[in-house]
This record gives sequence, structure tokens and C-alpha cells, in this order.
Amino acid sequence: MLDSPERASSLAYDAIVGGGSVAGLSFAAEASRKGLRVLVLEEDKEVGEPEKCDGLVSLRELRRYAIPEDECIQSRVTKGVVFSPLGRSAALDASRLEVVVIDRSAFDEQLARAAEASGAEVVLGARVTGVDDADGGVKVRAGGQTYSAGYYVDATGPTGVMRFNRRGLVPTAKYEVEGDWFTDGVVEVYTDQEKYPGFFAWVIPRGDGIAKVGAAGFGINAVRALEGFLATRRSKIVSKVACTIYVGGPIESFVSGRTVYVGESAGQVKPTTAGGIPSSIAGGTIAARWVSESLLRKDPSLLARYQEEWSATYGKEYRLMTRLRHIHESLSNKDLEKLVATLQRPKVAAKLAAGSFDFHASAALSALGVRGVLQLAGVLVSSEARQTLASLAKQREA
Ligand SMILES: Cc1cc2nc3c(=O)[nH]c(=O)nc-3n(C[C@H](O)[C@H](O)[C@H](O)COP(=O)(O)OP(=O)(O)OC[C@H]3O[C@@H](n4cnc5c(N)ncnc54)[C@H](O)[C@@H]3O)c2cc1C
Repeated sequence: MLDSPERASSLAYDAIVGGGSVAGLSFAAEASRKGLRVLVLEEDKEVGEPEKCDGLVSLRELRRYAIPEDECIQSRVTKGVVFSPLGRSAALDASRLEVVVIDRSAFDEQLARAAEASGAEVVLGARVTGVDDADGGVKVRAGGQTYSAGYYVDATGPTGVMRFNRRGLVPTAKYEVEGDWFTDGVVEVYTDQEKYPGFFAWVIPRGDGIAKVGAAGFGINAVRALEGFLATRRSKIVSKVACTIYVGGPIESFVSGRTVYVGESAGQVKPTTAGGIPSSIAGGTIAARWVSESLLRKDPSLLARYQEEWSATYGKEYRLMTRLRHIHESLSNKDLEKLVATLQRPKVAAKLAAGSFDFHASAALSALGVRGVLQLAGVLVSSEARQTLASLAKQREA
């Protein structure tokens, strides 16, 4: 890895990637494997630092693209517990979902090593400040240098997606804390529309008496919300991050001229929970295959296949998740009480336990069944949520 932009050659590349995290590094590894000359420009001085993500991920989906080394796995999740605003709780067995907590910094380093081993150059401390179309390719400015390439791959995460959908960004605070009030292997989710509108607070133990604890919500001061959550839980704060998560769904077009968007910058993040590790890696990997095909066959029209292929896997589920997100945003605290009561039903909990972490929207609707969804719609207070749920049930029945 190079620690200064000066050391990278200014020769032409096939693709220049802005952003050296999961999506950009996965693109770089796959494209280099296909024989492309790839340069990754990462603004931070270290890959994976500062660590923002909590690294809660299902190996079932992730291993389609990358298997985390044993050293990256911090903990295995056996149970999830969802809390209502009044403290009612529903426990969900997660032991069959293959969910683990990974060390995101270590995992990003693993991906960077893989990209370099395949031949990609990774330059740190190089912020992309401009991209212009030029001579059938692009000119990319970073760290006082100008690089030329066939394509620019925007893998800049929230910075990238902000240009398309600022309203999909949710203020977030995430601390790592030492404490004795959480249990290793048990992930907790706290719902409350007043404290965390449209989102929730969460506790993800990562072993050794440490948990990743966060809070997010539209229009809130997330740091204050998280401090409020921790006020009654004796904790020693190990680290603090204030950032944003994105829940606005995929952007309209993953390719614009000679710029290809991958990962969070393309909105490839679950609209329900903002989890985006596997789907962003998928975005980077699939994009690399089609950029390389389009260059090898000298046919830029092939790039359209990238969005088609990503959407074939995630498109339907993400559309469903977007509808569930709208329902979540319109729920009242009374509705949340009813929802958690539904999750307490043994039949529903058992079906969710056999479902899917990454495709949880379809899994949850099948667990409830058409009758269950209609029943739930019938007891909700919010008329908007009631109507949307009822129309979802009718669509599934048709
Ligand atoms: C608090 C929090 C918790 C999360 N928890 C989970 C979780 O438990 N499970 C899960 O699956 N997902 C989680 N996510 C989401 C997940 O982190 C993202 O979906 C994923 O990291 C997206 O990867 P990416 O490569 O597209 O973008 P990012 O990981 O955001 O990386 C973008 C990279 O681009 C760099 N960059 C930005 N601008 C420039 C520029 N101009 N020039 C050069 N470099 C630039 C940044 O420094 C960064 O390294 C969480 C996110 C947050 C914020």
C-alpha cells in the first residue's frame, strides 16, 4: 500500500476507484483478477479506520463473495431481542441464521490485501476532489495529482449517495462500551418512535465484555439519544463515532457516463436496517465483471448488465424493504407495542428463526402469512401503516 499519492504512477488505468472500503476494494480485487489496471484512492490514512460499521453480518450471504478470515470474527450471534417502547420484549432464535459480528477494520484490511495481491494499487491519504470526462475516459484529481482512466468507480459511501438522496441519510451515533448489562451472542434492538423516529437503538456485543451500541433516528441529535440510552446502563466508553447511515434505497442508475457507482454510494444498503456489507461487496464485484467485459469487448453498452445483475438478486427485496420502511416511519409507539406482541407469538418467532437475515422482509411477511399481515394491519393505530400493510397482504394473496 502506498502512503502518499506522489508514489503512484500517473500512467493511465483502466479503472480508478474513489474509496477504499468494502465496495471499492471488492471492485479492485475482481477487476484486477480480470486483468484490468486498477488504482484505488482512499482519503483516510489507514484502511478500515476510523471504524464506523458494527460488522453484523450473515455468513450465508457474505461467503458468496468473500469469507472473513477467522481473526476478523469477533462473536457469533445466537439470539436477537426486540424491545417495545414500554419494555415488552420478543426473543428471536438466530442460531440458524449464521450471523456473526466482524471486526470491520480487520476485514477491510483483508480485502485490501486481496486487491493488492491481484495487482491493484491502493493509495492512502488521497482524497478524490474532481472527476472530468476526457478523451473517451476520465481524469481524476486527488492529492494534487491528475490520473487518467477508462472509468471512475465511485465507492465513496455516504458522501457519494448524498448527491442523489440526502433525505435517505439518518443521523447516527455509535459507541463501543465496556459493561456487564449485555450478553455475548445476544443482539438487542430498542424501538421507540419518540426517541429514535424511523429507526432504533441497538446493542451488538463483540466479546470480551465490550458491545457496539448505537442510536439513529430522523431529525434527532443521535449523540444525545445514545447518551440517554446509556444513562441507566453502567458503561465505560471505549470509542465514539458520530456519522450517518443510509436507508433511501438504490439510486436510479448505477452508471452515469464513465462513472460507475458501487456500494453505499449506489444505495446498495438495506432500507430497513442500513446493513450493507454483503450487498455492497456484491455491487463492487458485479460491477468489476461488467466494466472488464465492456473494456475487453469494447462495448460500453454491456455496463447496463451490472445494474440488471445486482437487481436480479436484491431488487425485489429492497423494494419490499422500502415499503416496510415507510410503514415503520408512520408507526406510533402504540403500534410498536402491538408489533412486538406479534413477534412474541411462538409460531411467528419459529418461522422467523428459519428465515433469512439478508432477505428479512420477505422472510417476515411469509412468517406472518397473508392472514397474519391482515390481522396486524387491523390492530395498528396508524391508518397509513394499516393501509400499506393491507395492500401488501393483498398483493401477496394475488
Ligand atoms: C454506525 C454504522 C453501523 C453499521 N453497521 C452495519 C452492520 O452491522 N452490518 C452491515 O452489513 N452494515 C452496517 N453498516 C453499513 C455498512 O457500513 C455500509 O453499508 C458499508 O460499509 C458500505 O460500504 P462502501 O464500501 O460502499 O462504503 P464505506 O464503507 O462508507 O466506505 C467509503 C470509503 O470511501 C472513502 N471516501 C469517501 N470520500 C472519498 C473521497 N472523496 N476520496 C477518497 N476516498 C473517499 C471513505 O473514507 C471510506 O473509506 C453500518 C454503517 C454505520 C454507519
